[in-house]
Amino acid sequence: MLADSISPGSVKTEDQHRREICTAGRWIHGRGFVASTDGNISIRLDSRRILTSPTGISKGLMSPDEMVITDLQGRKLAGHREPSSELGMHLLIYLRRPDVNAICHAHPPNATAYAAAGIPLNKALLSEIVLSLSCIPVAQYGTPGTQELSDALEPLVQNYDAILLANHGVVTCGADLLTAFFRLETVEHFAQVSLATELLGKQVLLSGRDVEKLLAARVRYGATTAAPVSSNCPVTSDNAVGGSERISVTREELEALIEEAVRKDRAHR
Ligand SMILES: [Zn+2]
Repeated sequence: MLADSISPGSVKTEDQHRREICTAGRWIHGRGFVASTDGNISIRLDSRRILTSPTGISKGLMSPDEMVITDLQGRKLAGHREPSSELGMHLLIYLRRPDVNAICHAHPPNATAYAAAGIPLNKALLSEIVLSLSCIPVAQYGTPGTQELSDALEPLVQNYDAILLANHGVVTCGADLLTAFFRLETVEHFAQVSLATELLGKQVLLSGRDVEKLLAARVRYGATTAAPVSSNCPVTSDNAVGGSERISVTREELEALIEEAVRKDRAHR
């Protein structure tokens, strides 16, 4: 195995898991998905133990012996540092999702911008996204590191492998660490493309029929959650409310339009 890589699968020695969390931390930091000591990564070691990154350290500078082991109630079992402040959010996901063995949480700038704007990444813009994540909802705001945040996530955890946290960041999960990391990377990439289409002023959405075919094929591409059944996940060209095309006018043009509308309204009275 390459020195700085993560192998697929979740059956590994504890030493390997420790090294791979450090690698994921360097990737997350190196790609600018976090600043300072933000973010956290965890792995399910077995039915009762979680291995997690420690709090208060750059995710790009962690060493394997700094990882912390806790039980599923968050009690520390081993490690000389303290566990991540977001451990509660990780534990909620492990408790609700027996299929999940790894979780990544970070603040990638584009996806976090969507989270801060309260806008879900739920438009059927890219076939690969419909296949892999179907759509990425926004969980209501909850104070980081508190029960409030877990409560906000609870309704979404069962159906989504990637969730935006309002005014905060992103959490992704998967059957192994590589999958959870790839999902984080995918969310940020999709946010970047979505933002670019917003700037271009035009978004061409896939049709409901196109999306149906993609959702039917999801399982072949490793999706472990059922495709969420919802009218707006993802939003297609059939169910988009209003046009998604944006127009721009100058202040003078806008004033002229308003004046004209007011004049017409007066003339009708
Ligand atoms: Zn955070």
